[in-house]
Amino acid sequence: MPGETFSKGSTWMSGFGSKPTRGAFVRGMIVLPALATLVTEVAKADDTKVAQSAVQYQTKPNGDKQCSKCAFFIPGATPDANGTCKVVDGVISPNGYCTAFNAK
Ligand code: SF4
Repeated sequence: MPGETFSKGSTWMSGFGSKPTRGAFVRGMIVLPALATLVTEVAKADDTKVAQSAVQYQTKPNGDKQCSKCAFFIPGATPDANGTCKVVDGVISPNGYCTAFNAK
């Protein structure tokens, strides 16, 4: 600032609190792991699908039961294309089947 004087030892950045204190460092050491845990928990909350192995997913039908006839199936671009599933993780064949089958 024009006409502003600085005392000995001060710098133009001293008003911004640029020098970290031990307290700020300790608070950071406590807050950062807690924040990382929170982010991980939020990510998990979005990952609600089960693994294919957990529901014995197979790429062939079980009699007349198959993914394309299941209420959880999300079709691909064409009727024969692989799709996804609302409850099972990964790529799902329209001709597949698992123990979570739920007829439309
Ligand atoms: S729940 Fe099982 S049978 Fe139904 S669409 Fe998903 S993977 Fe296929």
